[in-house]
Amino acid sequence: MDPRPSADRVALGTALIGVAAFVLIAANRVPWEPVPGGVPAPVSASSVFSADEITRAEHFATWGRIWSWSSLAVSLAVAAWFGFSRRGRLWAERMPGWWWVRVLLVVAALTLVGRLVTLPFGIVLRQLRLDEGLAAGTWAAWTLDLAKGELVTIISTSIALIALVGCARRWPRMWPAIGGVLAAALVAAGSFVYPLVVEPLFNQFDSLPHGALRTEILALADKEGVAVDDVLVADASRRTTTLNAYVSGFGHTRRVVLYDNLVDDTPKDETLSVVAHELAHAKYDDVVTGTLLAAAGALVGVGLLGLLLPRRRLAGGVADPPDVVPPGIGMSAVPTILALAALATVLAAPVQNGISRKLETRADQTALEVTNAPAAFVDLQRRLALRSHADPTPPAWSQFWFGSHPTVLDRVALARAATSGNGVAHTRGGVLEQTGDPASEQADGDDDRHRQERKDQRVLNSRRTALGAY
Ligand SMILES: [Zn+2]
Repeated sequence: MDPRPSADRVALGTALIGVAAFVLIAANRVPWEPVPGGVPAPVSASSVFSADEITRAEHFATWGRIWSWSSLAVSLAVAAWFGFSRRGRLWAERMPGWWWVRVLLVVAALTLVGRLVTLPFGIVLRQLRLDEGLAAGTWAAWTLDLAKGELVTIISTSIALIALVGCARRWPRMWPAIGGVLAAALVAAGSFVYPLVVEPLFNQFDSLPHGALRTEILALADKEGVAVDDVLVADASRRTTTLNAYVSGFGHTRRVVLYDNLVDDTPKDETLSVVAHELAHAKYDDVVTGTLLAAAGALVGVGLLGLLLPRRRLAGGVADPPDVVPPGIGMSAVPTILALAALATVLAAPVQNGISRKLETRADQTALEVTNAPAAFVDLQRRLALRSHADPTPPAWSQFWFGSHPTVLDRVALARAATSGNGVAHTRGGVLEQTGDPASEQADGDDDRHRQERKDQRVLNSRRTALGAY
């Protein structure tokens, strides 16, 4: 008997190690109780917005959800057809050229088909935003962004799949382990170079000019204990009227970026509130946390792939002769891998977004403590929500599944708790004190529309490389 482990055992071991790594990282780096004493219950919508404002936001959010989810459903159905039907898989076998060229062609073709079938929804969504005065820029500029986004997706997906298929060809038994480690390394590398390679494709970045705002931001960074060399301003106003800021990269590529319309049209105390939140992401290295979790997730994903693929492939009858492609992975596996990855992304969303909401809540809490300006924080929340027509009360399951941030009502509640001194942390002489009763843990909310907007505009990477778009 062959003493070496079977491909199945290697795959299972890889998945289990990935799960263990994920749990360990999540247990150690995610603030499961981001607010001392518990997260306060959301405030009522009517205490923040007028009836008209609520109606308008709900109208926009409802249609935004309808079109986003339709788009998601169609793209999953198309991916599933190519990945799981015999015809779809055989189509991939007919690609010409060297194996890696064929992988690239299959990835490019499927990405383009996926984009084309969801294009009508993208156009309707953008028109909706134009009608509401949320989007800016020409359709030509929008199309160019779309094309660049597709190119980024095709290149990054091809690199990952060529690496994976290459491993499977070279190491028919060990490929899930080697491919899993390689995939995890690619996730980390991608997150690191994202600010240098991808972001400049979509925006121009300039240093925030010297002046009062810059001086106060650097003082804030000092207070939060975050080393910041520079604060960048992105020319976001050329495509959106909404306000935002984010932190991306880590180590030498870490950067704090503000949308230009946040610098130009927002009162300074509110801008500083956003910056304090972003600096908190930097302080706690939330991008590193997200990257480590995504890397562990990649290990789990490749392990599961190793368990699911061989049987399918062997049973399905691959057209490649066995001496060209070892059992386990053939060219027709590429559409199947893409379909499984698309499905896994949707299934993993509640875990990813649940963790994201914890990180966001901690950043809000830190911003409130550092700026000691809860009124500006509340004004800012109102301004952001009105400028993006954020739904104050999204459906609970939508928020659970797609909400990357707490809802505006959750966030206002946090600030009001800080004002009332009930269940709030006060900082005195650097000592964090706790007063009041611990409030019950609340399900956070958010606008998946916001998420969709980021997805469309900054374009898309299913991995979250830029954590903390405010
Ligand atoms: Zn954030």
